[in-house]
Amino acid sequence: MKILKHNSAMTAPVNPKDDPWDPIVSLREFGRHVLTSVEMTVTNLCNMRCEHCAVGDSLVLKEPEQIPLDLMLRRLDEVEHLRTISITGGEPTFRKQMVDEKILPILKYAKERGIRSQINSNLTLDYERYEKLIPYLDVMHISFNYTNEQDFYEIGFANSGHPVKKEVAYKLYHTMMENSRKLSEAGMYISAESMINYRTHDRLPAIHKLITEMGCRRHEVHPMYASNFAKGLPVLSLDEMRQAIHSLLDERNKEIWMLFGTLPFYACNNSEADAALLKRLREEPMVTVRNDPDGRNRVNVNMFTGEVFVTDFADIPSFGSVHEERLDVIFAKWLNEHPLNQKVNCYCEAASCCGPNLLVADMYYKDTDFKSRKAITF
Ligand code: SF4
Repeated sequence: MKILKHNSAMTAPVNPKDDPWDPIVSLREFGRHVLTSVEMTVTNLCNMRCEHCAVGDSLVLKEPEQIPLDLMLRRLDEVEHLRTISITGGEPTFRKQMVDEKILPILKYAKERGIRSQINSNLTLDYERYEKLIPYLDVMHISFNYTNEQDFYEIGFANSGHPVKKEVAYKLYHTMMENSRKLSEAGMYISAESMINYRTHDRLPAIHKLITEMGCRRHEVHPMYASNFAKGLPVLSLDEMRQAIHSLLDERNKEIWMLFGTLPFYACNNSEADAALLKRLREEPMVTVRNDPDGRNRVNVNMFTGEVFVTDFADIPSFGSVHEERLDVIFAKWLNEHPLNQKVNCYCEAASCCGPNLLVADMYYKDTDFKSRKAITF
């Protein structure tokens, strides 16, 4: 098994100075994008049906066999510069068997190799299945877009095909909050993500307050874009998004790490409002802006088919399969061959920016050639 040289640094919790999920870290180190991050989709089962769910279309009630764990671990071991893994779903912990037979072995592998790990969960199930992850997991990532149990009911079951009783939803909401408090106290690092969208943009400070009360150590904030399930939802203007971020920065708890990502504002834009916001984000303590890993340093492996995806943008099909090729080889094909990557593959060190997210570029900057631009404000 490959072991990272700087293993000892991995015992400290992730912090604003150490975000190995940001593709700019490896871009600086190697002078080019390399594969450092592998995400694995381990289930399409979930007990919720969220309005914004990025995998909503794929959620199912029963699922087929998975690829052998040995094959997945071997493919991970072959990734030369692997720094992070993420486990996602559905709700990865939905079946206890999945926790014991897949998730724990993968997390143990990551721990032994000295790479960082994350699980995306809704944290609404029984405490015990999360508790056993504590010794191995670096980041428990949850979604939190609510100011109360009614919000949770409306958002969390918006796409349920059958009626869900309010009381059932309310109970899950309180379980999630209680789990978060208890797990945080027991030493789990919980990062709560909120989206800036038509529901949340004018109540982010209230959402943030609850997140801090739940013991979370990081608050991640991303704008919501119109993709998949979110296609039919109202879209915010760039002005509204900027305003939402300023309001959150005005009222946040400055001891909590605020991580912004997938922002549609760039240092090469000729806009005073963008420049002012970017300056503020750069200067505020405990605030970072993560570059987008999508198509830059990460692949996603579907654990049922073995297919490897480089981005979930539009209908870009799988780039290969773990049954046939090494992940580094599949990733290199995307980097070198795909015209879409060539379109947004820019880099301005002065602004710590390595280009826009593909979806954002497509939505807001359709005719912009980012490769011919340079940062003008930093
Ligand atoms: S890296 Fe690309 S998007 Fe970022 S400031 Fe430079 S040109 Fe603009």
